[in-house]
Amino acid sequence: MPKYFDIHSHLNFGDYDKDWDEVIGRMRETGTYTIVVGTDYESSKRAVELAERYPEIYACIGIHPVDSPLPTLPLIRGGQGWGELVKHPKVVAIGECGMDFFHQDKERDFERQKKLFLEQIDFALAHDKPIMIHARDAYPEILEILETEFPLGNSVSKLRGNVHFFAGDLVTAKRFLKLGFTLSFTGVITFARNYDEVIRSVPLESIMVETDAPYVAPVPYRGKRNEPSYVVEVAKKLAEIRGEDPERVRAALVSNALSMIM
Ligand SMILES: [Zn+2]
Repeated sequence: MPKYFDIHSHLNFGDYDKDWDEVIGRMRETGTYTIVVGTDYESSKRAVELAERYPEIYACIGIHPVDSPLPTLPLIRGGQGWGELVKHPKVVAIGECGMDFFHQDKERDFERQKKLFLEQIDFALAHDKPIMIHARDAYPEILEILETEFPLGNSVSKLRGNVHFFAGDLVTAKRFLKLGFTLSFTGVITFARNYDEVIRSVPLESIMVETDAPYVAPVPYRGKRNEPSYVVEVAKKLAEIRGEDPERVRAALVSNALSMIM
């Protein structure tokens, strides 16, 4: 049974090559599990390989909206490799998929990103998996797609998932919750106060924690390479912001993560 669950990390990236055993060692010391997230086919395959080797690692496979070079269709439905990968029992979600108009121009790239996103939603539904959403400067666009295509929420559509690295306001949060999505928070909450209102206002059952390692390490590791065991700091801060018992919050966060992977 995990003590902490980092639902979004990139241990599949090259950043961990030099001290891999220490990183895994710190996960074991703290009882931390993680979902390793792919951003293209190669990194998704690597995520599955890691999940195969380590009991505390699960995999999420998919295509980041603005990976370089920019992905084009057909990708998932057209490629046999994805169909094989998704059958692995430790593949627990599809993504990270979504939209990003911070790194790409909306006028020029909207249609491509929308198709890529919808294709991954179809793939997730076909395999009864949740999606892991990446959204940057794109909450209105993503919500409009989801609310138009799946207006009745996940009890009817079966579409479910998590909004990774949630950085929106309370109105945005509530629209995602209404569709049956959960929100996850990163180490940013240890040093920025912008999300406290959302963290206090949404039900604990709808909240997950993540590191998005190697990016955005929490205090006291800020500026360093991030890693899954640091999710302990995110969980502690979340309890503090909510004014709730840290042990109760820790246990709830683990059970929320487990409900996503079962
Ligand atoms: Zn990520």
